[in-house]
Amino acid sequence: MGRAVQNPDAPVAETLPPGLPSTLKRPEDKAIRSFKPWMVGDDTIGTLLDEGWSLGICCRACGRTVECKPQWLADRFGDRRGLRLADLLPRLACAPPNGCGSHDVAIFPYCEPAAPVTAITSADPRSSEQPPSGRG
Ligand SMILES: [Zn+2]
Repeated sequence: MGRAVQNPDAPVAETLPPGLPSTLKRPEDKAIRSFKPWMVGDDTIGTLLDEGWSLGICCRACGRTVECKPQWLADRFGDRRGLRLADLLPRLACAPPNGCGSHDVAIFPYCEPAAPVTAITSADPRSSEQPPSGRG
């Protein structure tokens, strides 16, 4: 089987548990590099589970992106709802075999877009929106 050239504009995020579809897109490198644990300081596992959010993990060493689905979080940390994401961070790693083993990862809560009511393919009129960055 030949290796087709991947479209660099469409990186595919892995998921936990594996094999699920993911709509997560890796944030800009700038945002990932500037990630600090306090940015998720008040959020806990319970926050993610209550809201039905995934946890996005971006490796800063190898560029891998992983989406931890709520069901995986519930399965893994369901009895530790009070665990702060900032405290969870040091335990996370870009886990082998697909990962590089680095602990230098950025995390963020990820809210999956609501499932479309109709499964009709429609062109999205919005091009990739760029949020205004407050550079001063
Ligand atoms: Zn990695």
